Amino acid sequence: MKQLVRYLPAVHEIQKEHRFHELIKEFEITEQHLTKLVKEILEQYRNLLLQEKWTGPKPGNQDFIQFLFIELNEKLKNQFQYTLKQVINGTGTILHTNLGRARMSDRAIEHVVETAKSYSNLEYKLEEGERGSRHAHAEKLIKEITGAEAAMVVNNNAAAVYLILRELAHNKEVIVSRGELVEIGGSFRISSIMEESGANLVEVGTTNKTHLQDYERAINENTAMLMKVHTSNFKVIGFTKSVGTEELAQLGAAHENVLFYEDLGSGALYNYQKHGIGEEPVVSEVLAKGVDIVSFSGDKLLGGPQAGIIAGKKELIDRLKKNQLARVLRVDKLTIAALEGTLIDYLKGEESIKNIPVVRDLLTSKETLKERTESFKKSLLALRTKFEVHSEESVSQVGGGTMPDVELPTYVAVLRHQSMSAEQVTRKLRTEFTPAIITRIQKEEVIIDLRCMTEEEEQIVLQALSSL
Ligand SMILES: *Cc1c(COP(=O)(O)O)cnc(C)c1O
Repeated sequence: MKQLVRYLPAVHEIQKEHRFHELIKEFEITEQHLTKLVKEILEQYRNLLLQEKWTGPKPGNQDFIQFLFIELNEKLKNQFQYTLKQVINGTGTILHTNLGRARMSDRAIEHVVETAKSYSNLEYKLEEGERGSRHAHAEKLIKEITGAEAAMVVNNNAAAVYLILRELAHNKEVIVSRGELVEIGGSFRISSIMEESGANLVEVGTTNKTHLQDYERAINENTAMLMKVHTSNFKVIGFTKSVGTEELAQLGAAHENVLFYEDLGSGALYNYQKHGIGEEPVVSEVLAKGVDIVSFSGDKLLGGPQAGIIAGKKELIDRLKKNQLARVLRVDKLTIAALEGTLIDYLKGEESIKNIPVVRDLLTSKETLKERTESFKKSLLALRTKFEVHSEESVSQVGGGTMPDVELPTYVAVLRHQSMSAEQVTRKLRTEFTPAIITRIQKEEVIIDLRCMTEEEEQIVLQALSSL
């Protein structure tokens, strides 16, 4: 086998092939680019031959060149594939952190595209013809929707927490209940962020019970802030007591120089409680209770882009905007565009709000999902696939560390393949289709929840299943 090395073609011989030039045209690449790949591939073949591990056609044979070009074609296809790929979410988990949390509304998407395509007045006042501030854009909308005096937007809510503690509580004490020292997504801990920010954490109460007097007793001349953290991703049940927003706002107000900040985590702008879903407070209601400042995520229940929204007293927001960190944590114009689009949906009211996918998917009823799943099942049967399918009642999760105790009643399609295991099927759906299709496995069966899928996506999934 080793001797075959000398039959390997020279690079210039490959370059003479018309297929070489066809690839350059097809992939819109330069000759240098392809030449480099040819060299790499020949080097790889040489090594395999020398190690006696070569399994392809013998160099020198006619098939060999054909084989080489097929591999080149594959290599090129791979090279130009995005690693960030479209995924169809068949899990039923709406804010799936691994799948990019919220998908955005059409209005948000359109505004992102137009903003990306052209120049914009990102930091320019059109009336005055003068330099402006990027903070100006989403602020008006946030104020309008939440009733806050002022607002600003940073990279994410973790950044918002950090900026607030750094500017408003540096070298001072911040009082937090032990029941609220949360860790979110493994990489965000209130206690660590606090330490990083230079604020001194003062823990009060116990894991299950904290009383107003616990906060009251901890206040001294070094206290900068009372902080309440929304326990987004867990719930303490049983013998519990926490202090409400109203009481803490009053306590803060009674002490000069003591602020009250609430990290809302998700920050709902829509009243889900009204629909019997969860107990998430609406941001405007929280602010109306007298909180000085709040922060929340843009891509959790709000259903917009990754962002951290800070809203509250103007005097405090002004200080945050002036902090050097505001520059470090600032958002780009595409985020602002997506957020503006989403916020306009909120401002327009009920009908528009339901165009926000997160809100729409959260509100989709069990009855609707039952109908959709039945019709999905029928379509699948009509396609004469290798699957057995039935529908059954189940639950979808909100996800994203939000509303941990809420189970959304749903219907799911339950599939079993004639010859492949559920593991094999889900793997194929993930890796062999574009967009990739993510499903769940339960008791050796493939579970598909249509809650987070559009009708178009349903069709793609049906096609994919019929090809297996
Ligand atoms: C999710 C969450 C955060 C972090 O928000 P990101 O936007 O993911 O950075 C902070 N605090 C609470 C209470 C949260 O739920």
